[in-house]
Amino acid sequence: MTGLMQGKRGLIMGVANDHSIAWGIAQKLAEQGAELAFSYQGEAFGRRVKPLAEKVGASLLVPCDVEDSASVAATFDRLGEEWGGLDFVVHAIGFSDKNELKGLYADTSKDNFVRTMVISCYSFTEIARHAAKLMNDGGSLLTLTYAGSVSVMPNYNVMGVAKAGLEASVRYLANDFGPRGIRVNAISAGPVRTLAGAGIADARYMFSYQQRNSPLRRTVTLGEVGGSALYLLSDLSSGVTGEIHYVDSGYNIVSMPTLEELKK
Ligand code: NAD
Repeated sequence: MTGLMQGKRGLIMGVANDHSIAWGIAQKLAEQGAELAFSYQGEAFGRRVKPLAEKVGASLLVPCDVEDSASVAATFDRLGEEWGGLDFVVHAIGFSDKNELKGLYADTSKDNFVRTMVISCYSFTEIARHAAKLMNDGGSLLTLTYAGSVSVMPNYNVMGVAKAGLEASVRYLANDFGPRGIRVNAISAGPVRTLAGAGIADARYMFSYQQRNSPLRRTVTLGEVGGSALYLLSDLSSGVTGEIHYVDSGYNIVSMPTLEELKK
């Protein structure tokens, strides 16, 4: 199967390096003929993203710090100038102070709560608003979430609260833009070893626990998240919007550890 994304142009936000979930998604989209633009957060990330963008023949590389509304607006102005239109956006961005991704959620500071919400939750709404203006013929918007939004995961703390807000935003945005044929969905990925993932205290225990206790008895690969993103960003999923799609080896359906684990 090739060419699913032929003739489609989109922006990938959130590649930090070749372990990033956004990079797994970008590769799948490029394989299927998508024309890609990448945004990066600051020059240090830019230097790492440039060779990756070149690898998949990206036509545009733009700086964008989502904490700064002017930077977000400038990114979409640039896309408008270069392309005139847009078919999809991947938002794979999250941040919280790692000092608060441990201990009690109750100890979250107001400053970090607000910053986490702005970067990890509000940015998707702001991006969707800009992107929709360039989507003249429908489109697809995708963000990344984690199951710490719906149940408590050790140390995920304020990120869980931000992801709950992000998932609610997916539903509201899907309803706002649905009449224009613009779909909005999220992938709730199982744990993947990335830079952001490493910021969560004791993440390696969560990783190996999910490996042992998910129905598939393993975690997911970047390619698997990428494949599901390809479905949600392509016309294969033309009837799907407002969905939180789990790509987690089935971990979300189990309510208990495996018997092997319980009997240890
Ligand atoms: P990553 O560190 O590779 O990517 C996070 C990205 O967020 C980086 O590219 C970083 O530059 C960007 N970012 C942070 N603050 C920003 C800002 N102010 N402006 C612009 N960009 C900013 O890690 P990842 O795990 O690939 O994370 C991508 C998304 O996937 C995040 O939303 C994360 O919460 C989500 N997610 C990750 C996992 C996991 O286990 N790694 C699981 C489920 C969901």
